[in-house]
Amino acid sequence: MKEDKNLSDSPQQDENNARRGFLKKLGLVVGAGAAVTAGAVYLGYDHEKKKNPDGKKVRVLTADGQLMEVSEAELIQAENQTADEESELQRRGREGLPGKHWVMVIDLSKCRNARMCMAACQGAHHLRPEQHHINVLRMQDAEHTEPYFMPKPCFHCDNPPCTKVCPVDATFKRQDGIVLIDNQRCIGCRFCIAACPYSARVFNWIEPLKSEEDKDLPYDVELNVPQRKGTISKCLFSADCLRKGELPYCVRACPNGVYYFGDLNEDTVTNGTTRETVRFSELIRKNGGYTVLEELGTKPQVYYLPPKNRLFPYQYEGKTTIDPDDSRVGGGRG
Ligand code: SF4
Ligand code: SF4
Repeated sequence: MKEDKNLSDSPQQDENNARRGFLKKLGLVVGAGAAVTAGAVYLGYDHEKKKNPDGKKVRVLTADGQLMEVSEAELIQAENQTADEESELQRRGREGLPGKHWVMVIDLSKCRNARMCMAACQGAHHLRPEQHHINVLRMQDAEHTEPYFMPKPCFHCDNPPCTKVCPVDATFKRQDGIVLIDNQRCIGCRFCIAACPYSARVFNWIEPLKSEEDKDLPYDVELNVPQRKGTISKCLFSADCLRKGELPYCVRACPNGVYYFGDLNEDTVTNGTTRETVRFSELIRKNGGYTVLEELGTKPQVYYLPPKNRLFPYQYEGKTTIDPDDSRVGGGRG
C-alpha cells in the first residue's frame, strides 16, 4: 500500500485484516464527491467502469475509518461477494415478474381526500405518520377554480434519474418496471433524493416506527421492511402484493374508485374499488390522461386523468372559490 499521511499507518497485519474486512463491508461505501453521511468513501472510482476495469488502484475509506488502496478487481470481487450474500427473498425481489410492465392510473376527478390509500401504505410499510410513500396533495390551478386532490406516489419512471446516481446500486429498476431500493446496500448519501424530480423519496432520519418489533424479520426488498435508520424508502408499487396476484395496498384501500392498476403489456388496468378491468390505452385516450413533467424524458409509469367533471364538487354557499382555512375543505371520507 502506498505511503500517504492520510492513509492508515497501522502495521502490515492490521492492514491485511482491514483489507479483508473491507471486502465484507462493501455495502458501507459511497462515491467520490459524495456528501458523506455514513460509513466510508471511494475516492476516484468510476462505477461505470466496473464492467471493464483497467487495473488501476482506487482509494477507499472503510466504515471503521481506515483509508486504503485496493485494485478495481478487488472492488468487483467484493461487489460480487455482496451479491452472493443476498438472501433468496432479495434475489427474487430484484428480478421482478417476467413479462410484466406495471402501470398505474389515478383519476383526479374522483379523489376526495379520504386518505385511505395513505393509511394502508403506511401500515404495510411500517412508516411513521409523517412519512409518505404516497401523499395526497391539495391542488388549486387558479384562485377562481375549485381545488382538487392529487395522490402522488413514486412514478416508477421507465428512465429513472434516481437509479443512475446511486453509487452503490442500492436503487434499481427491475425488468417489470418497478424501481426498488435495497436498504441493506443503501448508505444514505441521498443522491437519489436530489435526482428525483418528483420528490418521491423519504429518508429515515430517526429510528423507524417498528424497529424493535421488526428486528428479527428477514429483510424483504419488495416491502422495504424492516425499515432502517439512515436509509431511503419510497413507494414500491406494492411489489410484494403483485407477486401474490393482488393489487397494491393503496389501490385496494381507496373507497372512491380513484386508482386503476395493471399491465402495460396486456394493455389492461383494473379499478381497485369496482374491480372493473378496462383497456389502458382507451382509458387514457378518452379521458385525456397525462403524465407529470413529460418533457423531462423520465417516462413516468403513473398516469393521471384530469380533475374535470368532478364527482364531488366542493361548492358551498354559492361560492366558486374556497377559503383554504375552511375546515369543510379536505374532508369527505368515504
Ligand atoms: S418518481 Fe423519482 S424516485 Fe420514482 S422512479 Fe421516478 S425519479 Fe425515481
Ligand atoms: S439509494 Fe439513494 S441514498 Fe441510498 S445509496 Fe443509493 S443514492 Fe444513496
